[in-house]
Amino acid sequence: MRYVPIEDDAANLLERAARIGKITQLVELLELVEEKQVSIDELIERLKAGKPWELQPRIEEIESKVSELKVIAVDHGEWKRDGCKHYDGTKCTHYSYKKEPSAIFKTVKAKDIWRVVVKEQPEYCGFCPSYKDKVEVDIGSRLSVIANFAARKRDGCKHYDGTKCTLWQYEEQPSNIFKTVKDGKVWRVMVKDQPEYCASCLRYEEREEKK
Ligand code: SF4
Ligand code: SF4
Repeated sequence: MRYVPIEDDAANLLERAARIGKITQLVELLELVEEKQVSIDELIERLKAGKPWELQPRIEEIESKVSELKVIAVDHGEWKRDGCKHYDGTKCTHYSYKKEPSAIFKTVKAKDIWRVVVKEQPEYCGFCPSYKDKVEVDIGSRLSVIANFAARKRDGCKHYDGTKCTLWQYEEQPSNIFKTVKDGKVWRVMVKDQPEYCASCLRYEEREEKK
């Protein structure tokens, strides 16, 4: 490090100060230089980097918060990315850009759009609100298998009249997910459209003659 008497470089530094409009701050800095608390090289480096001395602690604090956030985003992002149905093993297939983004994220061209390579940048997923669990697809297909089995059970049950279940009844219209129909004073479930209702029923009784 090189320390110089203030008078040697004062004109040079004041010229820099005038250029960036920070004369007051620079005068204080010059005093630090004069007291040899700061080297002239350090000061010039900071001026070149556009980081006025007084802002440095704040900048360091912000940089540290950004790094902490990145660690969290990567951690959560990896988990989200790997469970998301929009992740194809390389990129996010949900978000796209019409022009190549000049942003910080690495992208890949797919036909005439750009997509983010989340394989290498899980932090992109960390802040994403469009995560969709890929297990949903499996649940959907499993429900469909259950509904198919349940439909066979329903069709073989003597309590099915072709529209509703004539065994189970509700005194008040249920507010749950099953569609019902009024039958006299009670409500019955339309198992024709909802065979899954029969899936876990313990009161199935085989009809003598199948429909
Ligand atoms: S979490 Fe968001 S950014 Fe990541 S793959 Fe899914 S949709 Fe794309
Ligand atoms: S299986 Fe159960 S719910 Fe389905 S029609 Fe028969 S009795 Fe009703």
